[in-house]
Amino acid sequence: MGKGFFQVPTAINEPVKSYAPGSPERAAVTAQYEAYFNGNVDVPMYIGSEEVKTGNTNTMTPPHDHKHVVGTYHLAEKKHVTQAIETALEARKKWAQLTWEQRAAIFLKAAELIAGPYRAKINAATMIAQSKTVHQAEIDAACELIDFLRFNVEFMSQIYEEQPDSAEGIWNRVEYRPLEGFVYAITPFNFTAIAANLPASAAMMGNTVVWKPSDSQIFSAKVIVDIFKEAGVPDGVINVVYGDPVMITDTVLDSPDFAGVHFTGSTYVFKELWKKIGNNIHTYKTYPKIVGETGGKDFIIAHPSANPKQVATGISRGAFEFQGQKCSAASRVYLPKSMADEVLNYVKEDIASFKMGSPADLGNFITAVIHEGSFDKLAKYIDQAKADADAEVFAGGNYDKSKGYFIEPTVIVAKDPKYTTMETELFGPVVTVYVYEDADWSETLKLVDETSEYALTGAVFSGDRYAIDEATKALENCAGNFYVNDKPTGAVVGQQPFGGARASGTNDKAGSAQNLLRWVSPRLIKETFVTPTDYRYPFLG
Ligand code: NAD
Repeated sequence: MGKGFFQVPTAINEPVKSYAPGSPERAAVTAQYEAYFNGNVDVPMYIGSEEVKTGNTNTMTPPHDHKHVVGTYHLAEKKHVTQAIETALEARKKWAQLTWEQRAAIFLKAAELIAGPYRAKINAATMIAQSKTVHQAEIDAACELIDFLRFNVEFMSQIYEEQPDSAEGIWNRVEYRPLEGFVYAITPFNFTAIAANLPASAAMMGNTVVWKPSDSQIFSAKVIVDIFKEAGVPDGVINVVYGDPVMITDTVLDSPDFAGVHFTGSTYVFKELWKKIGNNIHTYKTYPKIVGETGGKDFIIAHPSANPKQVATGISRGAFEFQGQKCSAASRVYLPKSMADEVLNYVKEDIASFKMGSPADLGNFITAVIHEGSFDKLAKYIDQAKADADAEVFAGGNYDKSKGYFIEPTVIVAKDPKYTTMETELFGPVVTVYVYEDADWSETLKLVDETSEYALTGAVFSGDRYAIDEATKALENCAGNFYVNDKPTGAVVGQQPFGGARASGTNDKAGSAQNLLRWVSPRLIKETFVTPTDYRYPFLG
């Protein structure tokens, strides 16, 4: 503790900039995009103070222009992973002892750097690496990341404030120690904010970290590293390695000092990780904390009382923004027969109006999916739906990977409510709709509950309060984030803590005090002021 009870600045959500024609932010991000796109950056690994270049490199190419190289990054060998672990453990000696307000100041500074001088950089890098429109980049890489950093500092100080009562003559106090060992952060491609937050949240609580970003996000991960360095994160606190995820993970999980994993990604990978940790459990000095936010098969269900235009807009935005590559994206929809045609036709009109192409053209609403593996998988499901008797491709259905990985936003209408695309996470701009008989509302709620292994997000649209109440109860365990008359995407830090249960994760709610609590190990100190000197209690006479 510092010599004072410090109050951190009150966290506020970063306002989203408009990027309207003529705005200064539009000019800045466009210029930065051009500079990055026409540059060629060589991204090292960051281990302690060293920038490690192995010479064994992969190229980085924008998903919307996959033959165009914007840089390279260097792949780790096992010895680099070991070096990253050793460096993290060495750095922990000083970092864990640093007073909390110094750690807070570093991450608050990082937030201000992103809000100001790095805003165009982190947004342009995210537009290039992940093929996000400028709006999607702004709400992720700038605003959500700034919010994570500011709000987590506030949550950290609230955690430290949380202290037990003390009876007369004693003083109980709790100190929130960082975990004993190091934390491993494994991050997904789809959110720059998540990529930064997973290592940063653990580091903020006094831990040191080995961070493995997704291969598809390294171009924007480099900007995160630049920001953290400028903000003053000391060498060795966050060590960054790239390469074969299995080799890196196996090396990390073999370490007796492995103290926790902060993961976001797909369900299968997380389950495999959990299994390996279980198999290694006798190796570890401490029970590792396992935090994972994973896949989803997020739903929208409309009651016959819903407003069809609102439902259609929920689908168009909720399923197709960022090409459906948000873990929260709507991908199965249940419409009552009485309004299905109207809703579907509105969605078809919306799709016809979407412009698709490079994010460099700010008029585009749809850009490319992340990589060829994702493109091929989505094309296969679309082709299958075209061929299957129990499904119909109602809108979209075209794809083209000649220049970029472009999948036309697609609506499949399934006759079978358990049709494969009603159940499987596709992670792309493909939504499947099942039309139910209006009288079957209650049975359909049961169907929503039982159709998928996931429970991340979901939405009910209705003008009838009794129906909303029924859905809220019937779908209690179907979603960690449940929306009423709104699309199921777009959670805001500090307002809608995010995470799901069942196969969607451990539901430790990113951007909340609950998540930060996973990165500490409290120590209770009881001090007695007048210590007894005789073992005999009065009842002994
Ligand atoms: P992914 O599982 O392919 O990759 C995530 C990370 O795991 C990457 O860094 C990857 O290199 C690594 N990885 C891959 N195989 C591994 C292995 N065998 N061992 C260890 N690490 C391995 O996921 P992705 O494609 O980057 O992201 C999309 C997935 O993430 C979707 O399933 C989505 O629902 C999920 N997601 C969930 C949330 C949430 O909050 N619930 C948020 C974002 C993304």
